[in-house]
Amino acid sequence: MSETLAEVVSSHLKAKLKEVFGFSAFRGNQEAVMNSILEGKNTFVIMPTGAGKSLCYQLPAIVSDGTAIVISPLIALMKNQVDQLNAFGINAQFLNSTLNKSEMNRVKKEVLSGECKLLYVAPESLTKDENILFLNNAKLSFVAIDEAHCISEWGHDFRPEYRRIKYIIDQLGNLPIIALTATATPKVQEDILKNLEIEDANIYRSSFNRKNLYYEVKPKVNVNKALIKFIKNHKGKSGIIYCLSRKKVEELAEFLRVNDIKALPYHAGLDSHVRENNQDAFLNEQADVIVATIAFGMGIDKPDVRFVIHYDAPKSLEGYYQETGRAGRDGLEGNCVMFFSENDIIKLEKFNKDKAVTERENAKYLLEEMTAFAETGLCRRKFILNYFGEVYDEAECKPGMCDNCRHPRERFEATEDAKFAIRAALDTDQRFGISHLSDVLMGVMNDYVESYHHDKLDIFGAGKEKDAKYWNTILRQLAVNGFFEKEIENYGVIKVTEKGTAFLENPYELRFVKDHDFEADLLEDEKDDQVGSAGGKSYDDALFELLKGLRKKIAKERNLPPYVIFQDPSLEEMATTYPTSPEEMAQINGVGMGKVQKFGKPFLELITHYVTENEIETAADVVVKTAVNKSKLKIFVIQQIDRKVDLDDICSQKSISMDELLQEMEHICYSGTKLNIDYYIDHIIEEDRQQQIYDYFLGALTDHIGTAFKELEEEFTEEELRLMRIKFLSEYAN
Ligand code: ADP
Ligand code: MG
Ligand code: ZN
Repeated sequence: MSETLAEVVSSHLKAKLKEVFGFSAFRGNQEAVMNSILEGKNTFVIMPTGAGKSLCYQLPAIVSDGTAIVISPLIALMKNQVDQLNAFGINAQFLNSTLNKSEMNRVKKEVLSGECKLLYVAPESLTKDENILFLNNAKLSFVAIDEAHCISEWGHDFRPEYRRIKYIIDQLGNLPIIALTATATPKVQEDILKNLEIEDANIYRSSFNRKNLYYEVKPKVNVNKALIKFIKNHKGKSGIIYCLSRKKVEELAEFLRVNDIKALPYHAGLDSHVRENNQDAFLNEQADVIVATIAFGMGIDKPDVRFVIHYDAPKSLEGYYQETGRAGRDGLEGNCVMFFSENDIIKLEKFNKDKAVTERENAKYLLEEMTAFAETGLCRRKFILNYFGEVYDEAECKPGMCDNCRHPRERFEATEDAKFAIRAALDTDQRFGISHLSDVLMGVMNDYVESYHHDKLDIFGAGKEKDAKYWNTILRQLAVNGFFEKEIENYGVIKVTEKGTAFLENPYELRFVKDHDFEADLLEDEKDDQVGSAGGKSYDDALFELLKGLRKKIAKERNLPPYVIFQDPSLEEMATTYPTSPEEMAQINGVGMGKVQKFGKPFLELITHYVTENEIETAADVVVKTAVNKSKLKIFVIQQIDRKVDLDDICSQKSISMDELLQEMEHICYSGTKLNIDYYIDHIIEEDRQQQIYDYFLGALTDHIGTAFKELEEEFTEEELRLMRIKFLSEYAN
């Protein structure tokens, strides 16, 4: 019995897989992909991060005659792969600006002789005429384009050099192309095919579902503390924390370090050897946590990352998915937690201000999707896979592998409003996206509405008693549940599907899931703090009450308002962390050593007694310490005030606003350090006005500025009130 050619190729590939890489089986589509490129077909591979894309071109390159060209965006990434291949005994080289003349000559020689199987190049090196000339003399097998989403402006990682790739490849001759990406939105895919002119390609798409990852979004409150708690609960495990700015990366790494967590920073602004050292330390497990900007992670293959935390919201869901994809590559535990606040989105929008119109529109659209993901009450897996064009049944998100499945959200009757929403899409000719449809439903007048005469439609204003958030929820859930189709390539224009029209003809009961409302949760939190209520709080209620009682007693003895001694949030924290030594107590927010010495003793005694009585293990590990580098500014402020430097001058010396300076000073005071700012106050507030404010604080039940502002009938500016509060606290509390 003779073997077919396909069978020969297949067994040869398999043998090489084992021989070179030591793997005994292909994963997913790998083999089909390899056959496609080996048959000389253009090939397009979409696989999630960690699925094994590199092998899809490495192995075919090894078994082919000549050299395969691999185009890859990052020099570090190339080096990594070349090193790995060399270690497997494969001749792979890279061609980029880091090579000197003689290295360059050696590379060229080995390519021309056919010894080199894979030549990695950055797109910009390929534009050089001399390189093209030399490659024209070489025998080339095919061209692989890794991270191919860099070609699309719609991706999260657009690189203008990638736009010219097709033109360059054409100069190399008629070679088959294999493009690979982990970015899956239909628009990006279409862009890649179009730009590379490989619309005829065989397309291999794997499911993006990562079954072992747990997704969770939390409101961004008390993040630092939540972080410490989380990491200490995952002691000794590897994790990545993503932040948007370099500054935040450094601050946070330092903060974690101070809290006895082995954390290191990573961002493009660090010296390259520091960066490499930190990366290695993480890979070798000398460091548990890497705090990084998105510069970290591409091509990094650490299989046992157990958590990925987004300290700031990412700019797009593609980015989010790629970054979270770095957790649990080995198929075991992987926790993905994002801290979300609308403020972060607003900040990101500001960054986009200076971009060109289309780019700005894209960026805005990506952020809207990001926000919707964070706020959704639906299964997060369903939501995100839908975004990538995959249909997913949330019943499979077992056992509660996202926060919304673990704690199902309340549902509401949506049948009638779903009908309105579908009609709105139909009546506006299916040419608009979610935000316009919601404007039409609410009856909001704007330029679009006016120019398309949508105010003349029956549906205009039909849902005006509900707000934009509500209509967004309805419209989005219709999309995720297949009543709508969103054209991502077209700013998310909504088309009504067959399911949608069928529903309109024969409606049935629809119950949709309520969104999260993080901002409202936040306000709720603040309100709770103000009235000192303990509804659903994590602190020890009984202890809190005891502490409050003690504070009241001492306040009375000393003839001081209670908040001067300790503020409520400080007491709450004591009732959470049970400090039993002066050092521990000094770590509490709003308490410093100064205050501990002045007021701490009876409180420490109370807590110690309570802890023994109730056999509570004091969780010293939840004590959150503040990073030292943060205190640099504090020290500076204290010194300058000591020298009686004008506050305005301090602001300009440190390029901070008066508001920031006041905040810093308030912090200093609440932590128990005296600040004598009479020299400044006397200069700007008349004496009798000073007295009025002072008397007010002496008798007040709270030191909230808002309350003071009202009670004093708005006769003083906020700045005056805050300055006087600092004076008052310094004299009384410290
Ligand atoms: P991607 O580029 O898709 O993110 P990589 O190519 O970096 O993924 O591969 C991820 C990991 O999977 C690597 O450690 C690789 O060695 C491993 N891998 C790839 N294919 C196989 C296979 N067939 N069997 C076992 N491990 C594999
Ligand atoms: Mg890869
Ligand atoms: Zn789920």
